[in-house]
Amino acid sequence: MNHPATVQPPARPPPAGQAPAFADLHLHTLFSDGTFTPEELAGHGAHFGLTAMSLTDHDTVEGCPRMALACQALGVEFLSGAELTAEMEGNELHILGYFLDLENPTLQSELKKFQAVRQRRIHEMVARLNQISIPLRAESVFALANCHSPGRPHVGRALVREGFCSSLDEAFDRFLKKNRPAWVPKFKISALDAMALIHQAGGLAVLAHPGLNHCDDAIPELVAQGLDGMECFHSKHTAAMTAYYLEIAARHNLLVTGGSDCHGYSKGKPLIGGVKLPGIYFDKLKERRPAPAAPRAPHPQSTPSHGLV
Ligand code: AMP
Ligand code: ZN
Ligand code: FE
Ligand code: FE
Repeated sequence: MNHPATVQPPARPPPAGQAPAFADLHLHTLFSDGTFTPEELAGHGAHFGLTAMSLTDHDTVEGCPRMALACQALGVEFLSGAELTAEMEGNELHILGYFLDLENPTLQSELKKFQAVRQRRIHEMVARLNQISIPLRAESVFALANCHSPGRPHVGRALVREGFCSSLDEAFDRFLKKNRPAWVPKFKISALDAMALIHQAGGLAVLAHPGLNHCDDAIPELVAQGLDGMECFHSKHTAAMTAYYLEIAARHNLLVTGGSDCHGYSKGKPLIGGVKLPGIYFDKLKERRPAPAAPRAPHPQSTPSHGLV
């Protein structure tokens, strides 16, 4: 994948110690379904006064080395990360992994499998569109996505680009949402296996945007199986939801994280800068980082596998 670093970061952050620390730990680039390069994303983060960022692309860590370099050049702290689409008892939920060892062989091979699942799903979605007389070609979607981890937003953008829909919202509403004609169920890793995969790669496992996934009943089991944290601050969480999940996180002694879930210009204005995780939470996350030399063993019953949901 060739995503040239065309745009220079616009601003340098204030020197350390002169401004409060704020992190955004949930961000996407065009290595999955965002529209920014890592360099553009780092530049926007610095512009908004972020002192730490993590890149959490869907099912890939490919953008992390470039994002790390871009952040370093701006004096912004960087955490490697990824967002895994998982399931528990039939419900989809997203697990964020932080401090991942990017060279971990098991992580690399499992991510490749998830990406293959995503690529096959694009073919299936396009076939369904063709069945209802929308002559979109899979090649158009792959050319537009230009990444190993394509998703529904790429199909939606291709539908808009080729004039079949007037907006991404329309593409989701008419074709791509669950139970719409081009929606295809996806093989997903179980949430427990996702956490085991993250742990064996030296990372911490965090439940992403619980307010969006109707998975509150699963939280005690996730905690029992090693969940490390919860994303209480998120662009789509109301203040009441944030307070609610902060209370749950405290009850379970979970780390607290937060992020904008910025996808660039994929849907209106970029969200970066809209969620600023106070530095105190970020410091606690770093304190609980597993020792890099001694990554935790996977859970004994957890062999990564996929299940259709
Ligand atoms: P996928 O992982 O292929 O199922 O795609 C999920 C992604 O689609 C999410 O991460 C969002 O970025 C995006 N998405 C979900 N619903 C919508 C929507 N209604 N409009 C635009 N993007 C959406
Ligand atoms: Zn996304
Ligand atoms: Fe998500
Ligand atoms: Fe996300």
